[in-house]
Order: sequence, then C-alpha cells, then structure tokens
Amino acid sequence: MVEAGLADGVVGRAIAGGIIDVRIHDLRSFTTDRHHVVDDAPFGGGPGMVLKPEPLFAAVESIDAQREAEAAASPRSRGTGARAVVLTSPDGERLTHEVARRLSTADHLVVLCGRYEGVDERVREHLATDVISIGDYVVSGGELPALVIVDAAARFVPGVVGDDASVSGDTFSTGLLDYPQYTRPAEFRGYQVPPVLLSGHHADIERWRREQALERTRRYRPDLLQSTVKEGDKS
Ligand code: SAH
Repeated sequence: MVEAGLADGVVGRAIAGGIIDVRIHDLRSFTTDRHHVVDDAPFGGGPGMVLKPEPLFAAVESIDAQREAEAAASPRSRGTGARAVVLTSPDGERLTHEVARRLSTADHLVVLCGRYEGVDERVREHLATDVISIGDYVVSGGELPALVIVDAAARFVPGVVGDDASVSGDTFSTGLLDYPQYTRPAEFRGYQVPPVLLSGHHADIERWRREQALERTRRYRPDLLQSTVKEGDKS
C-alpha cells in the first residue's frame, strides 16, 4: 500500500532522484515470537486489538541505530540530525500547511502506522515526538495518513517540487486559497475563460488573481482570512 503511494508523481520522482529517501519497515520483522504477533487484546476489555509497544519501540530503535551507522560512515552528509517520530492518530494535532512545514525541517522523520483499535498508549507517551491527525475522520490504518504526511512534508524540501514558485503560490502558502486556473481551449462547450486571462496584461491578470483568491477565501474559508489579518497585525 505504501510502496504504491510512493511509486509515482512528485514524491516518486524525488525518491528516484535521491532528493529524499523513504524506507518502509514491516513491524512484524521486529517481533521476537515465532508467530510475529504485533497485536493483543486491550487491557480492561472491549472490542478489537491493540498494537503492542515492543515491536514499535524495537523498530524505532533499530532505525535510529541504522541512521547513526550511516551518519558515521558518511560524516560529510549535511543536516542537523534532527529527528521526529510521528504517531498517526485521529486524536493528534491536525495536519496543516504549517505542521507539514515544521515536520519537513527534520532530517529524519519516522512515521508510525497504527491498525485495529490503535496503538498502546505508551508509544505516544514515551516514543512519539509528535502525534498527527490528517482530519476529523477515522481511516482503517496509518498507511494512508503516513503517505499524506510524507507527501505534504516532502513538498517543502528544496528540489522536490520542480518549480519552487509552485509551492509558494499554493493554497495556504499565501494565507489565501489559490486563484482559479484555466488552460486551453479558451472556449469549451460554450464555457468561456475569463477574458482578462487572454488579455496579455500582466498587471490586470495579477490584480484579477488576487481578487479571485480573496473572494474565494472570503466565501469558502473566512477562517483563513481571520488568521491572515492577525498575522498581518503582528508584523
Ligand atoms: N480507535 C481509534 C482509531 C484507530 S484507527 C480511535 O478512535 O482513535 C487505526 C489507525 O489508523 C490509527 O492507529 C492511526 O494510525 C490511523 N488513523 C486513523 N484515522 C486517522 C486520522 N484521521 N489521522 C491519522 N491517523 C489515523
């Protein structure tokens, strides 16, 4: 599931180009019992199963040791060595533009994927540095959230998105939603492209885009305008 999500597109190209390195670890390979059991029934009863703490701690410790060995082998490798261990959970901090940017500053991101009823609480208490939710709904496992987190964070890593202007103009970068985009043909089934975009007047186009971005934000996400105004007041 995770491999498929990393195979194509912007993130897939960044991995192929060696700009970022993503590795997938199977929790079962960090078990010590014959049946590679990663889950158990919850203390206190109730439905479902809970991921056991030992394989998750063992996995992160093994990944840490591996990273240290690689850093020692190539001391010239850049970076601060900062690492974050992200637990995916619907009750975590909501993933936003800012959170993705913060996570992207870590040299090394470990993302823990839950399953079943979730993860033994000691993982949150003593292993995770961040607990992140991708939104107020529950999906069946941490794999899709992990892909969302990795994709959103990777876009902030220089060189991952071909055109840096494309990231800085994105919805949320400016504090506004993006302006509407059109491409050829100028008329499709009688639907016209706004004439200003065909005018060639760059100042007019800029003004139109700014107005559209403001208008859309006002209509669909007025909460963003509140925070943009507050940010403006600070500076
Ligand atoms: N019983 C839990 C849900 C477990 S869902 C609860 O009510 O909170 C199983 C796993 O899917 C979680 O451990 C987590 O890793 C992942 N997951 C589900 N929804 C998520 C969300 N909105 N954001 C991040 N991870 C999520």
